[in-house]
Amino acid sequence: MRREASHEPKFLTNSMHGKLTHWLRMLGYDTIYYPKTDNEIIDRAAEEGRVVLTSDTELHRRVLSRGGLSILLPLSGTEAQLSHIAHYLETHFDTPHEEFLTVKFRLCSLCNGRLKPLQGDRWKCEDCGQEYWVGGHWRNISRVLERARELVNKLSNR
Ligand SMILES: [Zn+2]
Repeated sequence: MRREASHEPKFLTNSMHGKLTHWLRMLGYDTIYYPKTDNEIIDRAAEEGRVVLTSDTELHRRVLSRGGLSILLPLSGTEAQLSHIAHYLETHFDTPHEEFLTVKFRLCSLCNGRLKPLQGDRWKCEDCGQEYWVGGHWRNISRVLERARELVNKLSNR
């Protein structure tokens, strides 16, 4: 197993992956949504050491040829996209997929700001004030993560 970085990965998503951006923040990963030109994406990712997440083969190749990190994702399906990222992190960053595919109340899904714990299993974003709690939507979130875990196992057994 190769370890390309000792720190936790940070991500940059391009225009196709707004929804995925929210999921990654929910999983506790610093992620910026950056719907810009390929050159701007490549520069910013290099500057901030971010892994580029894209479904654009050309952009993916260009990032790699410039020495950056990129994961080529299926165009749709949150479960499939998350499973690809989980598989990549397991093989490149030694991050177990179970650890990646767990909700962590660290970052705001809306703005990437830090969450501050409040009383009674609630959290508040220090930047935009959005509050979070474990509620009725939780079952859907758990289902998506569970499905993503199953898909990672399939990718790993290939
Ligand atoms: Zn926020």
